[in-house]
Amino acid sequence: LVRLRARLSRSQTSLGKGLLTLLSRDHLDEDTWEEVEDTLLTADVGVTPTQELVDRLRERVKVLGTRSPGELRALLREELLTLVGTDLDRTVHTETSGAVDRPGVVLVVGVNGTGKTTTTGKLARVLVADGKSVVLGAADTFRAAAADQLQTWGERVGARTVRGPEAGDPASVAFDAVKEGTAEGADVVLIDTAGRLHTKTGLMDELGKVKRVVEKQGPVDEVLLVLDATTGQNGLVQARVFAEVVNITGIVLTKLDGTAKGGIVIAVQRELGVPVKLVGLGEGPDDLAPFEPEAFVDALLG
Ligand code: GDP
Repeated sequence: LVRLRARLSRSQTSLGKGLLTLLSRDHLDEDTWEEVEDTLLTADVGVTPTQELVDRLRERVKVLGTRSPGELRALLREELLTLVGTDLDRTVHTETSGAVDRPGVVLVVGVNGTGKTTTTGKLARVLVADGKSVVLGAADTFRAAAADQLQTWGERVGARTVRGPEAGDPASVAFDAVKEGTAEGADVVLIDTAGRLHTKTGLMDELGKVKRVVEKQGPVDEVLLVLDATTGQNGLVQARVFAEVVNITGIVLTKLDGTAKGGIVIAVQRELGVPVKLVGLGEGPDDLAPFEPEAFVDALLG
């Protein structure tokens, strides 16, 4: 937790600092409120949440009258926490909700390059460290190096990788991974999928099929959408497409170490109605952290 705060605060503080500076002005005129709005929009908070936050802040600052820095910080903290949400279920469900003799199944989906394979590897590491046996399914058969990359992660963290022929059927690899995971009594099967976004129907066919085929052996317990935090609004458009194809149950926001635009957390949750559960804070095996609203907002405020 402390590390998360330290890692985030290096890049994230500009939003909180900017807001605190603006709200500390002697006269909060229309221009200032517009600047507050611009600051939030620039940080990818999104139009509707920005409007809501500005309305709330205007109201509360008026009631406050004189504003000490401490009071402003507390007020802003409270309102940002409300927007981020403190009571959402952010558990990554890796335990099977189906038959007891089956591993939990997690599908990892998202556009190529967002950090799907890396996230799958990091998540496997967390689970293995937790004493679970993990099988990886290399269902990204489209990108030639993806299966090798996943297998390297598997070897590094102590998880076996199930893979198919190059350019083979992703659904059959996913099916085999669950089947083999079940046969060997694994606790969790993590399936890395392909994220070609050429055409929506192509994606729909492929990803929809992966999910359907896996579900022949029981329910999928978690569908994690991996989103690159540095892609802003573009990432949101992609997220929407995926949400139409599969039932997303959690969001992993990667590369949060490389952007000051932490507002994307708020925007994407609002857009999909699904909580951010994990954040990626670097390329290394330990750079995956549970998303903690308090730590995140404190990092924003510096
Ligand atoms: P995929 O195509 O979605 O499977 O993406 P990869 O897992 O291959 O990741 C693409 C690139 O992003 C790689 O160079 C990763 O090391 C990098 N990456 C993934 N997650 C993070 C993160 O949280 N922070 C940073 N800085 N880089 C990341």
